[in-house]
Amino acid sequence: MAKKSKSEGESMYKERTDGRAFDELRKIEAKVGIIPNADGSAMYKSGDTVAIAAVFGPRVMHPQHSQNPQKGLIRVNYDMMSFSVYERKKPGSNRRSQEISKVIEWALENCVDLSEFPNTVVDVFIQIPQADAGTRVAGINAAAMALAQAGVPMKEMVSAIAVGKMDKTIVVDVDKDEEDYEEGEGATDIPVCYLSRSKKLALLQLDGKISPQELKKALEMGRKACEKIYQIQLKALKEFEEAE
Ligand code: ADP
Repeated sequence: MAKKSKSEGESMYKERTDGRAFDELRKIEAKVGIIPNADGSAMYKSGDTVAIAAVFGPRVMHPQHSQNPQKGLIRVNYDMMSFSVYERKKPGSNRRSQEISKVIEWALENCVDLSEFPNTVVDVFIQIPQADAGTRVAGINAAAMALAQAGVPMKEMVSAIAVGKMDKTIVVDVDKDEEDYEEGEGATDIPVCYLSRSKKLALLQLDGKISPQELKKALEMGRKACEKIYQIQLKALKEFEEAE
């Protein structure tokens, strides 16, 4: 049998474009209580991606036909600001923002307990003032802190990160340069979201190709990254409480 040449098995992606280690997160900043009018709010910055979240409620759900007499609901509105990307984004909702809103809603539903608030809604507004990939996961991290500050009953916290595969290399916290990588097998983008106590996956999306073994490794790296992010979220919440 012909021996497999070395280059066949080796990844072409040997160094990250910004010099980070493969499991290294971008520089993170997190702040709770940034919007006085909201019941809860937070900012989460990862490198050049910035997300802000504002939470209102629980309050009576309108329209009435959307009410659930068994429990309160969570409603997410995600959008990127026009100036968030290099080429101006057309203002307002589009298919992408609607899909991301829904996906974030599903992730956050796992951590809140609104059984004591029938017929109500908790509105979560997520805005992206600056985007350099990973906006949905930054939005989830900001929203989780904002929900906690608002005092919405939570079973556990939730933390999110985009892992990825550049050619054959698994990396954590994909930025826009990496997302656009085209050499070899190209880029695979995998936003994941882990619950803090049960360690369960609350979100898994996959855009690209990956083998089961590579996915296993990517999820493990994502879980470790989410543990680091959880500590940062807790610290930001504590700093807010201490400043009150
Ligand atoms: P995420 O931001 O969660 O990674 P996508 O994979 O859809 O979601 O987007 C990746 C990145 O592509 C965004 O973070 C942003 O930097 C860029 N992007 C998304 N939509 C647009 C747009 N309409 N114009 C320019 N850049 C965009």
